[in-house]
Amino acid sequence: MPESLTPELEELAATCHRFARGTLLMADQGDAAAARTAVREAAKAAGLFGMTQPEEYGGSAASQLALCVARETLASHNPPFMDAVFGPSPGVLGSVGEPLKSSHLQPLIDGSKRSSFGFTEPDDATPTSGTVAGDVLVVNGQKSYVTGGADADFINTLVHVGERGPSMVVIDTDTSGVALTQKFSSLDGSHHAAFSFTDVHVPLTNVIGEPGKGLPRAMRQIGDTRLLFAAQASGYMMWVLDLLTEHLQAPDKSGAPRGEKDVVRWRYADLRIKAYAARSMVYRTARLADAGENIVNEAMASKVFTTETVGEVVDTAIQLVGGAALVEDHPLADLYRKVRAWRLAEGASDVLRLNVGRGKLELGKGRI
Ligand SMILES: Cc1cc2nc3c(=O)[nH]c(=O)nc-3n(C[C@H](O)[C@H](O)[C@H](O)COP(=O)(O)OP(=O)(O)OC[C@H]3O[C@@H](n4cnc5c(N)ncnc54)[C@H](O)[C@@H]3O)c2cc1C
Repeated sequence: MPESLTPELEELAATCHRFARGTLLMADQGDAAAARTAVREAAKAAGLFGMTQPEEYGGSAASQLALCVARETLASHNPPFMDAVFGPSPGVLGSVGEPLKSSHLQPLIDGSKRSSFGFTEPDDATPTSGTVAGDVLVVNGQKSYVTGGADADFINTLVHVGERGPSMVVIDTDTSGVALTQKFSSLDGSHHAAFSFTDVHVPLTNVIGEPGKGLPRAMRQIGDTRLLFAAQASGYMMWVLDLLTEHLQAPDKSGAPRGEKDVVRWRYADLRIKAYAARSMVYRTARLADAGENIVNEAMASKVFTTETVGEVVDTAIQLVGGAALVEDHPLADLYRKVRAWRLAEGASDVLRLNVGRGKLELGKGRI
């Protein structure tokens, strides 16, 4: 296996295994809100919650490799409430100064405000744009698929500011002219919202970093998130392969182990080979990131390969287990729905493929 971890990271993985078995899998799913609170408190006590948060705010600012180990290990138990384990990270607000530091970053980290990410626009929308008028930016446009948007206090929004270009702008959801136009959930069960912005007056101090430099900042956040998605997808692959191993070692009606049939064995082995390749990509990319390298291409490649592989792993596992795996509430049926969304969230696979190609063909960049 591709991990080759230090004793500290082995210990972190052991902590995550214990946490998943003892806290996540035992959480009372009947009262989801209470379970989330209990998971959060237990995650703080176990030192997991602060891994995503800067030391300045009481977190432990874990390395990318440590974050990948933690996410992959937790996901390898296919537990509920994984989203409650890690504290809110600064994301695009990472290096902001005042006034955004006190007005939005600090409250985000301490949990008194919730943020969301407004990047995607409805197909028929004109791009969200902003015009500078004195010390305000007047924003018009629409965003959709804003995860958690209905409960958010502010949206980190990609806005095209005149000739300066794309900028990330903090827009408070209670600002006049901001309207929540739709709430919906997707196949994986996550919740999203659509917003319209009509002559929304935002203080210029809410522009994150320099106007026109918003896209690289947003892409950096998306790059880190893509790697963590990949680690999580690797963890789910491990869970499915464990389930499948047990299934194939058990006898069928004839009394012979199900995995004795060549065709079944080939398919199983193929999944293991792909899972090994996927996990190797995750670990290599995390190590490159921690060495200070630009991992934009590796993160895209890892995200595409792991999310497509986990889709294939779950799909083939359902085929090998048979109709029982399609019964509502079977863990494989649930996982089938969950992992499907990941080939679109944080960048559609084909769009990421185009970017990897462009990186080499037109920009001459990247190691892939
Ligand atoms: C679970 C989930 C959570 C999400 N959370 C958020 C969020 O918090 N904030 C946010 O802003 N968005 C979010 N999204 C939206 C997500 O980022 C988009 O769905 C994704 O980027 C694809 O964009 P799209 O839906 O507009 O599809 P499109 O861009 O229309 O792409 C659809 C298909 O068209 C083709 N295509 C598109 N562009 C090209 C191209 N340039 N060249 C060739 N082919 C192309 C590809 O085959 C692609 O798969 C989320 C989505 C999901 C599923």
